[in-house]
Formats: sequence, structure tokens, C-alpha cells
Amino acid sequence: MEIRIVKVEPAKMKPKPADESKLGFGKIFTDHFFTMQYHADLGWYDAMIEPYRLISLEPTALCFHYGQEIFEGLKAYRGRDDQIFLFRPYENIKRMNDSADRLCMPKIDPELFMDALKKLILIEKDWIPRTRGASLYIRPTMVATEAALGVHDSNAYLFFIIVGPVGVYYPQGFSPTSMYVTDEYVRAVRGGIGYCKAAGNYAASLRASKVAMEKGFTQVLWLDAIERKYIEEVGTSNVFFLIGEELITPPLGGSILPGVTRNSVIQMARTWNIRVSERPISIDELLDSSANGSLKEAFASGTAAIVSPIGKISYKGRAIIINNEETGTLTKKLYNEILQIQYGEKDDPFGWRMPVSD
Ligand SMILES: *Cc1c(COP(=O)(O)O)cnc(C)c1O
Repeated sequence: MEIRIVKVEPAKMKPKPADESKLGFGKIFTDHFFTMQYHADLGWYDAMIEPYRLISLEPTALCFHYGQEIFEGLKAYRGRDDQIFLFRPYENIKRMNDSADRLCMPKIDPELFMDALKKLILIEKDWIPRTRGASLYIRPTMVATEAALGVHDSNAYLFFIIVGPVGVYYPQGFSPTSMYVTDEYVRAVRGGIGYCKAAGNYAASLRASKVAMEKGFTQVLWLDAIERKYIEEVGTSNVFFLIGEELITPPLGGSILPGVTRNSVIQMARTWNIRVSERPISIDELLDSSANGSLKEAFASGTAAIVSPIGKISYKGRAIIINNEETGTLTKKLYNEILQIQYGEKDDPFGWRMPVSD
């Protein structure tokens, strides 16, 4: 399908942010976005890049009532010589299609998706920050638009991609986070939609995050929904523990989001001859490993931060302190290596980096 392009009149272009140190996350969006419509009788149609605008939908649009909404999150990076890179974008496209499949939403041809991403990024390339560590955040989104109130999968959808500059995640350097283990709330259960980037998962997680923050913690550490025993994720990130010489992350079992960063950490650590296990890890094992001194590092992984060190975990009134609340050596090394690949500063033996050029 051809992508039609309608550009903003130069006089109506938004001013670019003057100070890249104040970008923050998710506050600024660019002049254009990509949109495409779907109808069950027509398939996808009307692919276009157009001026950023409000979207109008019927109050009865199904997305407002039954939550058929999925999204993705990835970034474009500006490296040396103004080169622009994406990091494993086909993984995000595949995951969006997996989410679509689970929520009875239509899939998108990966090549059309990639074409839309690249064209939009190139149109907005002046918005990509120049500060190392800052980037252009990309948010592909799909919502059900059929106007109808009966519970059923929609026959119409809107797919759009918005992009906006985001700042350096650690402007003051790493600061280890604290996690509150909730045994009251759960995020997702096997057989549900935990492995999808679907709006409902985040709605379900807000209460526990709020409780954790009110208690003075950075985020929630989620346990499995059935036994309330096995660690699943932290906040909206995957999680890793270095215990002895073993790097452990919970296995994907349907309730855990299959993070692109998670997979990259696993592959990279294995090339360093670290024993990486995707296996269940219980909160009791974590407490024991802390007590016997074998718990060395813990970190969250995700596109926003790459890796984020965890310094403290609180469970039923007991606090585990990890690595003296300092960032561990492996955590730092993973961060640096992945960042350098993303910005084109070193070889990419994994083939993760994709240049974007005219
Ligand atoms: C997006 C997300 C992650 C991290 O995925 P990445 O592909 O590494 O960004 C982990 N857990 C949840 C719940 C998420 O939404």
C-alpha cells in the first residue's frame, strides 16, 4: 500500500524544544503522525502521514467500552555523523501483531509497518535529539472504532504512530530503585493478556503502583497470580537477578511481557559466558540468597531505561538490600554495551541495529 503524505505548512510547525535536558518523557509530540484505517470488509486502507491532530470517535466506539487497545514502544537514536538508527524494530512489530491476535484485532503487514515507521522518522528527523542518551520515542497504537455497544470484537480499527523526543533517562547517573512486593494485587495471570502490550494490563496495575509509591517505593514487584510466590516483573519492566554466577529472569509463560530488552540482555550476557537461566524464581529464594550473601545484583529491563538497578526490595515488612544500594558491575556493563550498539558507537555482532536513511 502506498503511504500518502500530507505535510504541515511550514508556518504551522511547532517550535522544537530548545533545551534537551528538559525533555522528560511523553510530553512533546512532533508535527506529523501516521494513521491507517481498517474495516473488516476492506482490510487496511488510507495509510497516511498527516499533520498531528485530534482524533474524533463516536462515544459508542468499542475502544471506550471494552478495551480493545494495544500499543508498542520503541525508539529512534541519533548516532555519530547524524546517522539515525532503530533497535530491533521487527521485534516490536511482531509483538504488536501477537497482541493484535490475542485481542481479536487485525494484524499489520510488517513491511508496511516498517515503511510507515521509516517514513515518519525521516519526516520528523530534526526532532531526534542530539544529546547522547536522549532519543525519539515511537508509540504505535491500535484502537477499536466501530460504533456499537454489544460486547464483540470490532469490525473497524484505527492504527496510528505518534513520535516525540524524550530525554536522557539518567541525567544524574544511575540511581538504584526500591521495589515493594505486593501480595494483594496481581498484574496478569496465565491464559490472560499479560504478554500483550494491551491497555487493560496497565489499568489493572495502577492501584498497586500507587500503593507502592505512597509507601515510598519506586515501583511494584509483581508475584504470580496463582501461588503469589514466583517473581514475574517489576513495574512495567522485566526483571533480572544475579545470584552467585547465575543471571536469572522469570520464564515467559503468558503472564509476562516478552521484552525486547529482556531478550537482548539474555543474548548479550550469554556471549560473555554468563550462565543465564529463564526459570521460575520465588520470593523465598530471593530472601534466602540475600541472607546467605549470594544475591549480587538486581535490575529491571525495558526500552525506556535499558536497565535500571534495583537497590532494595521490601516483602511483608522485610527489606532486602542489594549490593549496598549501588549499581552493580554487570548492570553497568549491560547498559553501556546496549547503549553503544543503539547509538552506532560499536560493532553490532547481533545485527540489532537498523539504519534509517532516505
Ligand atoms: C514494555 C514492557 C516491558 C519491556 O519491554 P521492552 O520491549 O524491553 O521495552 C516489560 N514489561 C511490561 C509490562 C511492558 O509493558
